[in-house]
Amino acid sequence: MSAVYNFCAGPAMLPKAVMAKASQEFVDWQGMGVSVMEISHRSKEFMALSSEAEASLRKLMDVPDNYRVLFMHGGGRGQFSAVVNNFMGNNGRAKYLVSGQWSKAAAEEAVKLAGADAIDVVDVVSDDNGVKSVVLPSFEGQDDEYRYLHYCPNETVDGIEIFEDIDCPWPVVADMSSNILSRKIDVSRYGLIYAGAQKNIGPSGLAIVIVRDDLLNLPTLSQSSIMDYRLARDNDSMYNTPPTYAWYLAGEVFKWLEQTGGVDAMEQVNTAKAERLYQCIDSLGFYGNKVAAANRSRMNVTFQLADESLNEAFLKEAEASGLVALKGHRIVGGMRASIYNAMPMEGVEALVSFMEDFASRHGN
Ligand SMILES: *Cc1c(COP(=O)(O)O)cnc(C)c1O
Repeated sequence: MSAVYNFCAGPAMLPKAVMAKASQEFVDWQGMGVSVMEISHRSKEFMALSSEAEASLRKLMDVPDNYRVLFMHGGGRGQFSAVVNNFMGNNGRAKYLVSGQWSKAAAEEAVKLAGADAIDVVDVVSDDNGVKSVVLPSFEGQDDEYRYLHYCPNETVDGIEIFEDIDCPWPVVADMSSNILSRKIDVSRYGLIYAGAQKNIGPSGLAIVIVRDDLLNLPTLSQSSIMDYRLARDNDSMYNTPPTYAWYLAGEVFKWLEQTGGVDAMEQVNTAKAERLYQCIDSLGFYGNKVAAANRSRMNVTFQLADESLNEAFLKEAEASGLVALKGHRIVGGMRASIYNAMPMEGVEALVSFMEDFASRHGN
């Protein structure tokens, strides 16, 4: 089979080298004669794996000592609930910035759990003749009490990324499901970072949570035990049986990242990949992207064909060329190329060649 490049937004492609190693180890892990998914999470072998994976992630993201790393169930949306559950208490309030579909969904879940009065929702996207950009409000001098401010630095569906840091007097909670480990960030600026694993880390179901210690000393606790950050912390993320195979694969992805030069090296490649693709979109007059340059996502590149009646032909021909899952999210339509860490530059080059060729055959 010739090369297939998978541009799916999630679950997304994993590094080829990791998949090859995992397939070799699938039925016989470390010479044990059984799969890693068939052993106890409390065995010394798995305990070694789990702490190694955490150590690796800490190193990659330069996580300060006063932060806990938790491996939890329930993906990204599980954390929409867990954050409210753990931090809101009986009469807390929170601020939610909305920059696209995922932050909107997070705010809706918060309203559902805490009530509309408790959630201050702020739309931060401005639309200038159909071109979207993010305009962050100033939080200076605001003395309202919020337990936290929630935002989503990379909107997977809309292709909108916020590169600016948020300056505010409240702990910042960030949904980094689709851009964690894609560029350098300063963890100490955040109260809590979470990410569903299936974009940049591993299989779906697993969620990574990085939380500052002092936020776990609040008097309130989650009502739900499996969402309780303190129980997760006190039980080394093994209050109930963790998603062990997902944890194993996440650890392998972290090792791969370390071997390929870490987050700095990844950021350089990611920047080059995104530039190459946006440059193709901008230069041909055949495709368009509706996000202002400063907020164009490096992970999820959305684009439209000027003549949308060609959408089906585009997708069909792309697939025949081994370029799969380019269809945009059903809510926003158009096309989307997700180019997470695991997507090599060659995949982007192959897509650009195809897009140039398609444009020349169908119009210009
Ligand atoms: C995919 C995604 C989610 C949802 O993740 P699930 O694991 O499906 O719950 C949440 N936020 C962002 C930014 C995402 O990209």
